[in-house]
Amino acid sequence: MADPQGFMKYSRSDAPKRPKPERLQDWNEVYLQEDPAQRNDAVRTQATRCMDCGIPFCHSGTAGCPLGNLIPEWNDLVRRGDWELASDRLHATNNFPEFTGRLCPAPCEAACVLAISHDAGGAVAIKRVEETIADMSWENGYVQPSTAAVSSGKRVAVVGSGPAGLAAAQQLTRAGHEVVVYERDDRLGGLLRYGIPEFKMEKKVLDRRLAQLRREGTKFVTGCEVGVDITVEQLRAEFDAVVLAVGALRGRDDKATPGRELKGIHLAMDHLVPANRACEGDGPSSISAEGKHVIVIGGGDTGADCYGTATRQGALSVTQLDQYPMPPTVRDDERSPWPVWPHILRTYPAHEEAGERRFTVAVRRFVGDDDGHVRFIELQQVRVEKDSSGRRSVVPLSDEVEVLPADLVLLAIGFEGVEHMRLLDDLGISLTTRGTISCGSDWQTTAPGVFVCGDAHRGASLVVWAIAEGRSVAHAVDNFLTGSSNLPSPVIPN
Ligand code: SF4
Repeated sequence: MADPQGFMKYSRSDAPKRPKPERLQDWNEVYLQEDPAQRNDAVRTQATRCMDCGIPFCHSGTAGCPLGNLIPEWNDLVRRGDWELASDRLHATNNFPEFTGRLCPAPCEAACVLAISHDAGGAVAIKRVEETIADMSWENGYVQPSTAAVSSGKRVAVVGSGPAGLAAAQQLTRAGHEVVVYERDDRLGGLLRYGIPEFKMEKKVLDRRLAQLRREGTKFVTGCEVGVDITVEQLRAEFDAVVLAVGALRGRDDKATPGRELKGIHLAMDHLVPANRACEGDGPSSISAEGKHVIVIGGGDTGADCYGTATRQGALSVTQLDQYPMPPTVRDDERSPWPVWPHILRTYPAHEEAGERRFTVAVRRFVGDDDGHVRFIELQQVRVEKDSSGRRSVVPLSDEVEVLPADLVLLAIGFEGVEHMRLLDDLGISLTTRGTISCGSDWQTTAPGVFVCGDAHRGASLVVWAIAEGRSVAHAVDNFLTGSSNLPSPVIPN
């Protein structure tokens, strides 16, 4: 039984971070490696703030956790110090809580009843509790391979090894199917490997989970582009079902702004991938911010990743620009008691370290030198307007222009969907107007026996949604192969 007055006795406290000067000297995670006993005591106090609500908005629904994480249940187990059972209940709905604990922006916390009022001291620190249970699970050996009792004799190919593909693969392997994950890159993990910087999640966290999947029987093939290195005919001949978890990595460009063709202007992933490769020991990054004035355009997760990466690379200055105002902290609809969850704009640890964020601004022009390299940007104050159909436009507030130095410009303005790949052509799958792959209510695409999940289906989204879709597509594939399925299916296709 939870303590209904816990939130009145204890204040919310987030995980302590390493001092800024220290964390800028390396690429390790920004959070402090605390003494486990001290950490566990602090987190038990945080879990005690949970009221175990009759209707726990944190747990599911439109605003809460898409995985249906059993948040009040494991909060209470942590409060009582039963970490092993808490680990069991956490893993019951989430294959990779150490990923979500580190990377998810926590819609569950925005949905928490205690987030309604500042008088309540803020939401329960759910993310901190989740990450600690997950790390405790590894430290104490609670995470073990879970192998299937019986083999189905069916084979499934999963294309892509990001969080959606890995979740689907683990669920299907545990259901008794032989699963092979194909990854076109030289290492596994997709965005978790080459998109997310080490300071948000160290790769050893990914590697230990991959080792568990291997021990359970999931097979992996790297450096293999399905549709090129293995044909669709071979895929069809060798597998009973295929899951497409190919992500949505086609970066949005800004072709309309004059000067875009100048050297030194890059899409965000062109900066993040070589930076992550450098951390893996592949040699210096091909695009470095060292000694440069850096402008990051776009205020979302990817922009913050570029921001923290540029700071660590030794940028002279880093400025992040966004057309939108500061993250909202107030209700935007008086009929709703909940604060607005900042879907796009949030403050990240990287923002506390160095540099500057500018809101309600847009670049009017990139200005270059005689060598055709960007050197300045012209900036204008703007506001974003929405017409009656919901279409947004950016309107300058005046003709006044501010000039900022810019030797490296990184465009982190979103993704436009799935990259072009021969695999989709050969399967006869065409993309939606959003650049994604559509499917029926059973997650099956227009190609029979071929399923889709994650960003490839949903568009660029949160890691928690990728895992939820991976789990759901596993249910659908298991049902397709055997006529029924006991696997959970937390979400439906959008
Ligand atoms: Fe606990 Fe908040 Fe969820 Fe209520 S909404 S059960 S207080 S975490």
